[in-house]
Amino acid sequence: MSLDEALTARMARRKLAHAYLITGRDRFKLADTLAAALVCTGAQPPCGRCNACRKAREYIHPDVVRVDPEGEGTKAETVRSLRSDAFIRPNEAERKVYILCHSELLNQTGQNILLKLIEEGPVYAAFLFLTPNPELLLSTIRSRCETLRAPGEEEQAATEDGARLADYILSKTPTAETLPFLISLEKRDRKEIAALLEETAARLTERAPERPEVLAVLDRLAPVRAACEFNISAGHLAGWIASAL
Ligand SMILES: [Zn+2]
Repeated sequence: MSLDEALTARMARRKLAHAYLITGRDRFKLADTLAAALVCTGAQPPCGRCNACRKAREYIHPDVVRVDPEGEGTKAETVRSLRSDAFIRPNEAERKVYILCHSELLNQTGQNILLKLIEEGPVYAAFLFLTPNPELLLSTIRSRCETLRAPGEEEQAATEDGARLADYILSKTPTAETLPFLISLEKRDRKEIAALLEETAARLTERAPERPEVLAVLDRLAPVRAACEFNISAGHLAGWIASAL
């Protein structure tokens, strides 16, 4: 996973915020990296070599606490005991990190307790809210967190391919790579093709809102995107995309 340069720099300079909202397929991985960075004792967090980084990696660091509301965490008592725990100083590290996996499953009472903790809790405590959909969290929590997106590799590849397709439609000049690119779509799955077409549509509407020939291509691609919801082979979809261009 390639991390945003700004985030890498903030980790290295120990300048991380104390509340993050993390979305995207690789959100668990990113949370682990941030947690390691918060407890790391090396020169450039997360150094990956110090004892704290090792313990964080092995999920045995006493100051990295995982709360998984899929189990007990939806209950307000769990969040209340988290609150008491947060006021106990860290054991080993400078910071204490709470990773709220599936945070959207926390009930309103639990979310409100956490909100107060973000606002008035001890300065060493850091909270990472993980969720596939930020809309499911209270807006008051969202507004107090920095949001980070951690797209998975497939999602990232689909985004790049979507951008390539948009460039091709805008320039209308096939290059030596256009045909192999279109053929390569056959190897993707329907979900990836859907993500790719959404990216293409977003880029085209942004960059060429008044070019009728571009809009016509978009119109022809719309049913292909709709068809991605059904059991149609990627090969068929790829052929359909090529004929719509
Ligand atoms: Zn370290």
